[in-house]
Amino acid sequence: MDKKAIFASRMLLGKELDIKENWCILIKGETIIDILPQSSLSNMEYEGWEIIDLGNVTLMPGMIDCHNHLALDARLKNHLEMMNKSAVELTLLGVNSAQDDLMSGVTTARYMGDRFYMDIIFRREIELGNLIGPHILASGIGMRALHGHGYVGMPFTGVDEFRKATRENMAQGVDLLKIFVTGGTLPEKGEYIPCYMTLEEISTVVKEGRALGLKTSAHCIGGQGLKNCIKAGVDIIEHAYAITEEEVELIKKEDRWIDLTPGIFMDESREQFLSPKSAEKIRKQRNQVIECLKRVIKGNVKFTLGSDAYHTYLYREVEYAVELGADSKKAIQGVTSNAALMLGIETETGSLSKGLRADIIAVEGNPLEDVSLLSKVKFVMKSGKIFKNIVKNGI
Ligand SMILES: [Zn+2]
Repeated sequence: MDKKAIFASRMLLGKELDIKENWCILIKGETIIDILPQSSLSNMEYEGWEIIDLGNVTLMPGMIDCHNHLALDARLKNHLEMMNKSAVELTLLGVNSAQDDLMSGVTTARYMGDRFYMDIIFRREIELGNLIGPHILASGIGMRALHGHGYVGMPFTGVDEFRKATRENMAQGVDLLKIFVTGGTLPEKGEYIPCYMTLEEISTVVKEGRALGLKTSAHCIGGQGLKNCIKAGVDIIEHAYAITEEEVELIKKEDRWIDLTPGIFMDESREQFLSPKSAEKIRKQRNQVIECLKRVIKGNVKFTLGSDAYHTYLYREVEYAVELGADSKKAIQGVTSNAALMLGIETETGSLSKGLRADIIAVEGNPLEDVSLLSKVKFVMKSGKIFKNIVKNGI
């Protein structure tokens, strides 16, 4: 079997990202079989081992993007409207996105709603080696209310329709279920945040998923929709742009996760790709959203991070988490070990640990001191296979 030994001057070891200097990772096939100090390797028999000395870089687990979409590319103008294009056009977008995601250091991506069960087909083709991309967690068809929000979702009404859509998704082989409960931006006037799915509809999806061991994630910015989600047993709240102190307490008490996507509001570079009306709305609400998201970090809620269609920019979400008050370790865990824990894949990936998949990246410098170094990914290995290696001082 294929045997590789990776040497580097630093690594972030285990779920706690403990910094180790001059250690080595031993890989057989797809799996990390050992991690140990280079000094303890003097007696090792190197015959048959491929030695990869990356020199002055930091090895860390491949990143997990907890919220993205294959056929939605926020780097393109009017990308939201493009969701209604043909299957062929959306597939071309997806091929590009998946490749870009992997090359940016994302070795696992949770795609949160695409048309035509694209994510399930991509998951299979990538695992077969026919397409380049990250390991995929697929949610299939995002489920939204007939009168509700969700460019990427499909519309349903009533308990029976939501049950049928959930079962269709599960018959296709999704890894999780995605629903759209509220709108995407804050309401223009007043305090009330519209909630488009009833408690019964949400509960139906959650229960159907639980019966097969699947988690449910809800696009939900806050308000009654958030309370309904918690009551119905939704596992993960996406976005939480309008969350109140009271809702932070509720989520903590009920021990749920929030998957943050702060870039949509905090990253000004995204505005040029939106319609002028949407960009204006985002600008107006930016400060208010930042105040809400700070509550999540300050309240010590379990959080992860996702780029939500801004492919290759997951590192910026980590930067925003730090800006919102998270320490750099927690922010990086939001795209590594905690992301894996939230998704229930912590025994497969998300940390440099013995027995896990060899999903490994290398960056310049120490990202715990400066998280923006995650933008400088020099080496990408997925399941023991090297997809990128542009380290200059390595052998
Ligand atoms: Zn999304």
